[in-house]
Formats: sequence, C-alpha cells, structure tokens
Amino acid sequence: MDLLIFFTFGTFVGSFFNVVIYRMPRNESIIKPRSHCPTCKTSIPFYRNIPLVSFILQVGKCANCQGAISFQYPAVELINGLIWGWAFYTLPFPEAVIASFLSSILIAIAWIDARIYMVPLDLIIAGVVVLLFAVIFGILSYSQVLWGIAAGVLLPGFMMGLTWLVTRRQGMGFGDLQLGLILGAWVGPIAMILTLFFASFLGLVAWIVISMVKGLDRDRPLPFAPYLVFSAISIFIVSEYSTTLIDQLIML
Ligand SMILES: [Zn+2]
Repeated sequence: MDLLIFFTFGTFVGSFFNVVIYRMPRNESIIKPRSHCPTCKTSIPFYRNIPLVSFILQVGKCANCQGAISFQYPAVELINGLIWGWAFYTLPFPEAVIASFLSSILIAIAWIDARIYMVPLDLIIAGVVVLLFAVIFGILSYSQVLWGIAAGVLLPGFMMGLTWLVTRRQGMGFGDLQLGLILGAWVGPIAMILTLFFASFLGLVAWIVISMVKGLDRDRPLPFAPYLVFSAISIFIVSEYSTTLIDQLIML
C-alpha cells in the first residue's frame, strides 16, 4: 500500500520534471503557463494530465489534435515512480527523501544532456541545496561527502586534463565535473569511483554501437551525464542490498 502511494507520488514528481526538461532548455518559466500540447498549443486540463494514466488512456496521443506525445513523458513519470516507491519502501525516511529528490533532479539533468548536450546549472544548484540539507541534518557525513566530492571532481578532472594533453580534445565538459560533485557527495568516494568506471564503460559501448549504426565520426558529441546518472543510481541501489560487494572492493 505504502509502495503504491509513493510510486504514485513519484509519478507526479516525474510529471513536474517533464515540464522542467521541456522548458528549462528553452528558458521558459516552469510555473506558468499551464501545461499545453507542444503540437496544437491547447492547454491540458488537470484530468487529462494524470501521470502515466492519461498517456495510456489516450494511447500516446493529444486528446485535441491527435498529435503524438513524446515517450519522454511516460518514461520520466515511470522512472520517478519506481525510484520514489523503492526509496520510501526500502530506506529510512530522511534518507529516502534525499535519495528520491536527488534522483529526480539527476534524471532531469541526464535527460536534458542527452537531448541538447548541456548540464543545466539551475539543476546542479538544486542538487547542491538538497545535499546541503542532507549534511546539515546529519543524513550524510561530512567526511563521506568531502571524499566523495574529491573522487567525483578531481578524478574526472585529472582524466580531462590528460585527455586534453594527449589529444588536444576536450573529452568531458565542465558540466560533467559539476555533476561529479553532486554524485560524489551523495554516494561517497568508493561508489563514485565505481560510478566513473561503469559510466565510462557504458559510454564506450554506446559510442561503439552508435558508430556501427551511424558510421564513424570522431567529432560526434557523446553526452556523458546519462551514463553517470544511470551508473550512480544503479550502484546506490545495489549497494543497499550488497554492502559486502563494496566492502570486498575496498579490500582489493
Ligand atoms: Zn495537441
């Protein structure tokens, strides 16, 4: 029962972040005007704006113009619903608040980076605010946060510098370093190092697959935020079940 309530709440949070993902890169206000169909501009009444349900009932089409609704909407709602449901079902209350809020912000960052190759500073700041709350209320420990930031910023910063020295190309963006700061502060140093490895591996696989499908292009931009965010959230979830895995890795 709790699970369903928090899942549903998460889908509404996802619905809000869908608006953020759509409007923030366009520099539009997040609060007004009300949600409208991107195709016919008709504003969407609240009873047609129910997360997941409306999309399913309308078979993915706008009720007014029959224009297709982007799969982004149900996908972001579903992912947020699952994470909020899981977090509040599994974690102690204060940790669940931090983990779910931060995940929602991170998913929006990942989605925007995937679309326009940019990590929005406003969302980074929102993440920092959530983390400050976590430190002030003792949900995250100072040392864990500081070492995590070191791992999340210095390590990729070093790799960026090395890449530039060798290839004279900028591998990652400074947005990725800002994201590394948030992720490191949240998951801590060990999980952050794992996150960097896992994300690099996923990015490399994606780059190879895209190159095979679309042809080799050394200048094709590859957004890194989606891989970082996916890796960090996955490792965070797995580490809740298997602290021994992380412990063993520390022992290595
Ligand atoms: Zn429409």
